[in-house]
Amino acid sequence: MLLAILYSANNRLSIKNHEMSLNPSSLSRNSFLNIFKSSQVPAILLVAAFIMLTGNHSLFKGILNIYPLTVSNIPFLASLALFFTLLTAMFFLVICHGKLTRWMLALFLVIASQSAYYMDHFGVIIDTVMIDNVMQTNAHEFAGLITPALVMNTILFGLIPAWMILKITPRITDMKLEIKTRVRYLVLFFILIILLIVPFIAGYTSFIREHRIVRFAANPTYTTYSAIKYATQQLSISKNTVLHKTAEDGVLLDPPSSKKELIIMVVGETARADRFALNGYKRDTNPLLAKENIVNLSNVTACGTSTSVSVPCMFSSLGRSKYDKETALEQENILDVLAKNGIEILWRDNNSDSKGVATRMVYEDFKTPTYNPSCEGECRDIGMLSGLDKYIASHKDKDMLIVLHQMGNHGPEYYRRYPKEFERFKPACQSGELRDCSQEEVNNAYDNAILYTDYFLSEVINFLKRYDNHYETAMLYVSDHGESLGEHGIYLHAAPYIIAPKEQTHVPAVVWMGQNFEYKAKDLEPYKDYAFSHDDIFCTLLVAYEIESKTCEAKNGLLARNRNLKYYANNVNTSDPSPVISLADRPQKHI
Ligand SMILES: [Zn+2]
Repeated sequence: MLLAILYSANNRLSIKNHEMSLNPSSLSRNSFLNIFKSSQVPAILLVAAFIMLTGNHSLFKGILNIYPLTVSNIPFLASLALFFTLLTAMFFLVICHGKLTRWMLALFLVIASQSAYYMDHFGVIIDTVMIDNVMQTNAHEFAGLITPALVMNTILFGLIPAWMILKITPRITDMKLEIKTRVRYLVLFFILIILLIVPFIAGYTSFIREHRIVRFAANPTYTTYSAIKYATQQLSISKNTVLHKTAEDGVLLDPPSSKKELIIMVVGETARADRFALNGYKRDTNPLLAKENIVNLSNVTACGTSTSVSVPCMFSSLGRSKYDKETALEQENILDVLAKNGIEILWRDNNSDSKGVATRMVYEDFKTPTYNPSCEGECRDIGMLSGLDKYIASHKDKDMLIVLHQMGNHGPEYYRRYPKEFERFKPACQSGELRDCSQEEVNNAYDNAILYTDYFLSEVINFLKRYDNHYETAMLYVSDHGESLGEHGIYLHAAPYIIAPKEQTHVPAVVWMGQNFEYKAKDLEPYKDYAFSHDDIFCTLLVAYEIESKTCEAKNGLLARNRNLKYYANNVNTSDPSPVISLADRPQKHI
């Protein structure tokens, strides 16, 4: 329909502007080619139609899920298809101008082919969080995402059409005429959109109000909207340099004579709770942790569904409901608060980076052999324990927090996340193209990587045991987010939180406490199935270092909650200070 409209409209223009050949066959061919010479509009419409046809499989799949292809739905479905096509065409008509038009169209074709590939293959949505992930992806991670299917897709639906559009889009000499033509098309399309909506006004109202998520798959309009929003966010972040104070009233209660704290916090990567045997998974993925005197927290929810949200969020005092990247980066996080109370902080990273959390801390990159002695193509998490004895010896009179940011289960190449001897579940998918592997192969590769994390965490505990006589030792492990492994046709993570499946938000968490630590496993055991979340980490760490602050008075960090309970048990004359009763004021979220 678009092509028919542009053909007839441009014929009117081209009669004025171009000579006609007398040969009837060349007349028709020339007329068709001439429409591409008189204005940039036809090229723009062609790109809009091409992207709608090849790059919006996810959008139409989502629409068909809501309105199945039945005879009665066909008129509305056709109306929706035209609506999105016209909207895309109008979008290009408004933003592509002058000499830049051909390059912008070519760029849109390539971006749309990439977005479509990730949306169709992994069921993801290209929103600001996803763009943030892409921007923070390092070369190594990027290489892991390039597959033959992606390359083929980019060539067929991105590069070749982009090359063709660069060839056929004319350079405009008469700018006034071009603007007039565009305005004419914009008005025409606007009227058409009204005509499309009017007969189905009820359908459109419900689609716009209740099915917002489906519209997120509109390619490339939503992708572009997200990119612009992301760029605006980044600009406003870099403008603000003043760091707002947090927990300024913090007081270290620990007497100087007491043993120093030595806590290792392991920030996990892409581990989902239901793949931990400790949470009842049928496979023995936690053979080593199961032997330790740990407390397994079975009901922990992530703050986000991607590293770039979850990591800054879990270290901030904002909590999920108030979290946004800009606010979090502009205020002190828990590491800043601990550091200003005299605690030595070390951040070791085998992931992408600390996502802005450790910018003011001692930071060591373990993704290369410079620091990491365990690199065999891929640098292993276990390498992060190397040289820690030296670090501890040089800070022996201080409280210490060591954060180890794992590579963990980072996808889609799960098979690269563990040494060969951990390939216990076979056959394991040996590709980043998860759809090329069977579900069993994907599960096997993913579970082998969990097995490696089990080993890594047990080694962290073994390391701390060596310091147990002289320090108050503890380990806290929590994953940043989970992972979809093909459930509902979705892979990987970073789904918008409101629609994120529990596989992406329910994360494993484990606490181990040494003999001198203020709390014991038996203190926390009664709460192991309580609904905790990343929101609880800020106050859990503050209380672990025995820092008193009003910031945590109203909050219920894991240890804060336990301390409240102790207080309650010691001060209230009752024979049954039941934890369930005393803590029941907190709404329980069941996953
Ligand atoms: Zn992550």
